[in-house]
Amino acid sequence: MGITKTDFMRGMQCPKMLWLDKHKPRLRVIPPEVQQRLDAGNDFGDRAMGMFGPFEEMTVFRPGTRIPDKKAMAEKTAEHLLLGTPVIAEAAFLYYNNYCAVDILRKTGTGYDMYEVKNSGGVHPQFVRDAGFQQYIVSRAGVKLERIFIVLPGGEGEEPFVPHEITKEAKALSGWVNDHIWTLNRMQKEKEEPAICPGEQCSSPYECWYAAYCRGEKSAEEPSSLPLIPEEKES
Ligand code: SF4
Repeated sequence: MGITKTDFMRGMQCPKMLWLDKHKPRLRVIPPEVQQRLDAGNDFGDRAMGMFGPFEEMTVFRPGTRIPDKKAMAEKTAEHLLLGTPVIAEAAFLYYNNYCAVDILRKTGTGYDMYEVKNSGGVHPQFVRDAGFQQYIVSRAGVKLERIFIVLPGGEGEEPFVPHEITKEAKALSGWVNDHIWTLNRMQKEKEEPAICPGEQCSSPYECWYAAYCRGEKSAEEPSSLPLIPEEKES
């Protein structure tokens, strides 16, 4: 079991958050307004898949579920890279079991451009870090990445999907990702819960869904009805 982009981002915010995701996920409480924003972000992401016209989507679910089959998605992506498919949505990659799915890969003359879609009013630092993780995995999986963009909603009178280039900033994060990805891999498998007290990390850059548990307001036995960790696509 490696880690995904969401695991990496959550583990970098707080290692205990990642550990709880793996060992006690039923303790998280996602406020309804946050879930609504996440759903709106996913809708925006779905619409953005068509921003360059026809595309091939790589999403494959495990039979009878809505859980992505990462291995099948990575295999399907590899097939489309060989075929030279011009626009690949949810392009999936595995590197030593670490995983990411890129919103859009667009073929260029000599490689691919990568587009990460965010339903937000600006290019926030966490989006650049998120893209930095993606480019680390995609590049090591053997794809030549050229330019990297964050796609935001257009304003009044603009195109609905507006790319903002962050190539230099995202590629500069390779060393930082490499410095932490293996540590987080080891940490998530530890038997002992990390001894981390609540602090500034509980709300920056995102509100942590384990706050009630860490502050002692929720017992370890209380169930949650939310089995999957949604990806952050909002500001
Ligand atoms: S509430 Fe705070 S200390 Fe607890 S897991 Fe979340 S970020 Fe970490």
